[in-house]
Amino acid sequence: MKNQTTTNTGTGTRFAPSPSGDLHVGGARTALFCWAFARGRQGRFVLRIEDTDRKRSSGAAALGFLEDLDWLGMSWDEGPELDGSTRGEHGPYFQSQRLELYQKHLADLLDRDLAYHAFDTAEELDDKRRAARAAKQPYRYDRAGLEVPRDERIARAEAGEPHVVRFRTPDRPVVITDAVLGEATLPEGEVDDFVIRKADGYPTYHFAVVVDDALMECTHVLRAQEHFNNTAKHLLLQEALGFPHPVYGHLSLIMNPDGSKMSKRDKDKAVRAAVKQAGIEAPPEGSIAPEVFNAWIADKKAQLENTDLVRLAEALDVELPEINVKDFRRSGYLPEVLCNFLALNGWSPGNDLEKFDNAFLAEHFDLSRVQKTPARFDRDKLRAFNLDAIQSMTPREFRDKVHAHGEQFHPEFLNRLSDEQFDMLAEASRERSKTLDELYQGNRWLVVEDGDLSWPISKGVRKAMLKGEPRGLDLLEQLLPTLAGLEAFTAVALEGTITAWADEHCEGNLGKIAQPLRIAATGGTVSPPVFDTLAMLGRESFVARANGCIRALHEHAATMNT
Ligand code: GLU
Repeated sequence: MKNQTTTNTGTGTRFAPSPSGDLHVGGARTALFCWAFARGRQGRFVLRIEDTDRKRSSGAAALGFLEDLDWLGMSWDEGPELDGSTRGEHGPYFQSQRLELYQKHLADLLDRDLAYHAFDTAEELDDKRRAARAAKQPYRYDRAGLEVPRDERIARAEAGEPHVVRFRTPDRPVVITDAVLGEATLPEGEVDDFVIRKADGYPTYHFAVVVDDALMECTHVLRAQEHFNNTAKHLLLQEALGFPHPVYGHLSLIMNPDGSKMSKRDKDKAVRAAVKQAGIEAPPEGSIAPEVFNAWIADKKAQLENTDLVRLAEALDVELPEINVKDFRRSGYLPEVLCNFLALNGWSPGNDLEKFDNAFLAEHFDLSRVQKTPARFDRDKLRAFNLDAIQSMTPREFRDKVHAHGEQFHPEFLNRLSDEQFDMLAEASRERSKTLDELYQGNRWLVVEDGDLSWPISKGVRKAMLKGEPRGLDLLEQLLPTLAGLEAFTAVALEGTITAWADEHCEGNLGKIAQPLRIAATGGTVSPPVFDTLAMLGRESFVARANGCIRALHEHAATMNT
């Protein structure tokens, strides 16, 4: 979407999402390939919103697509803009605003008797479909509409009788040539007289897509493999309308590592598995309504609404698998890493080269190296890519990116920290972060009120605090007054004092006191380096927490002894 000048060499690609739901990673990869193909050839990349299914389309979903593409860094030359304006000479770019154009081309087909009004009722068609099913035959429209004489069809349509318009499909085989999949021939009779205008007056997908690809001068159509068979219809319509055939390239799916489809359902499955593992029969308090939970448990096929799913997942501490671009964004992946990774899922530049940016992709992307078979989406590898990218950032860059991520997804966390605390936390987390979100997930201890912190007795806590001689708890009690009296409560001062203390009291074994200090400060056994952890909290908070910890653990030890 950024302004850029392109010299049109005649190549035109388009990404044409139907705006229902969110942008799936598979869709994002299609968009990326279309983008790269156009960019590499100084062509145009068009964004068109296919919203002819009025029930399923929404403006909010369309905007979501724009935002996600923009975040991924795919600039489009033509299409709707984020601010509501439009860019390009072939608009409008919402199909719902192009009805007149479709109507014009449809009238042309009707005039030339290459399309016809059909008045079959839904019941009649259903009966025929059922009969075909019973006879184990594929259903094809039987051209019953053509039994009505042409003049009568036109008169009835003009009189307002409900009808659809069907394409008069020529009786001959259709050869589909695909730049990725090769050639396939559909025998005569395979494509029936399909509907091109629905009873509500809207064009069907097939008709709109053909008109738009031609009028928007799309020379190359790269899209999901599920549309491969539709291509026969599109080729026939192009011939009837006198439009050129674009080059088609159909892209295989992106699958889960186990070969299943990557879909919204995966999130539901992950939460169901967690419910089963926890052995709970009611939703955790404050998560979702018990009626909703019960109905969902009772019906294995039911799917929870996204907000309920997220709430329940949080309560059960399960990570939802990312499926849509928005999920990856929330999980703290970098857009350039996600693009790199998506490109590798279905294309490779050769020579075992794996890391590249969008500029490289644009320069080298070609259809001959696009994979025919489904790619398997390996999240661990994506995380490793993200870690590498984070590690190569400057401290400042990491700090700014992680802060921007927090502003969007964890504002309440940021509100509870001073700038200085945040800077320390970012610096202490930088080397270990696989995502921009980890800092927020792993450091909740820093933003809870001192009085609300607790010290659950895990195996690690028991070992560090209550086992051995002297116990970690005793060491903590001994050291606390020294720390409380420290002049400067900085990481450097803490390191000096605590190391010297460990030399004297723990035979130089810093670990013996480091872990009790961390537990006292955070309630758990994992946090950034211990001196940073304490310094971030500050003296007052740390001392309050350490006292609370000492009290709680003594109480625990006492109950264990009685
Ligand atoms: N609107 C279609 C979809 O979202 C895309 C059709 C096409 O690319 O031709 O599946």
